[in-house]
Amino acid sequence: MPGARYSNNPDKLAGGVYLVGGPELSDERDCLCYLVVGQSARVLIDCGAGPSARRILDLSERAGGGPPSHLLLTHAHIDHAGGAAELKSLTGCRVLIHQAEAEVLESGDVERSAAAWYGLSLDPVAVDQILTGDGSIPLGGGEELHLIHTPGHTPGSLAAWCERDSEKILFGQDIHGPCPSSARIWTSGPGAWPVSWSWRPTSWPRATTASSGRPPGSGPSSRGTWPPRAG
Ligand SMILES: [Zn+2]
Repeated sequence: MPGARYSNNPDKLAGGVYLVGGPELSDERDCLCYLVVGQSARVLIDCGAGPSARRILDLSERAGGGPPSHLLLTHAHIDHAGGAAELKSLTGCRVLIHQAEAEVLESGDVERSAAAWYGLSLDPVAVDQILTGDGSIPLGGGEELHLIHTPGHTPGSLAAWCERDSEKILFGQDIHGPCPSSARIWTSGPGAWPVSWSWRPTSWPRATTASSGRPPGSGPSSRGTWPPRAG
């Protein structure tokens, strides 16, 4: 639970891009959660395991000047999606997720979401926008949060990127894995993973990879530069 050891300040990564949740900010079970602020949208990228949803909302409001308008879930694992129902209830934000993940979220599936592995439940939430692959979320002012379908860790995993301060910022989340066959209960599948590496942004002059917190079976949370280590 949040306590004195957690920082009370969102971590500004670039103009309008903040870290608003994660093991050092909200709860050790949370993935790293990001807020991208545009002229007409505030997009929260993943929302932690659930118990810290209000705290992530507080940090998001402090960073963005208001509640998130959109909640982009990069996949349905509990450490990324557990707070979705409460956040939608509190803010009315639009919940977006890939079509291959939606049923896990809407049914509150504790096995495929890995909630059981964490000893948590997954509160079901209705999805407002089903994503089918690559696309973007308009941020206003001509800016977009671009989406990339990165299957492997789960069938409907997504990464996202935007441009700020003349650099491209990648929110890779769990693209680094793990994707072993033994994790099929959590819908991982190594056969699909190579697709996720085909778009590697090697031409980018500088890219920040924002990996996630603690997917089942992985090591500690990380945030570093491209390429991330395969987990
Ligand atoms: Zn995951």
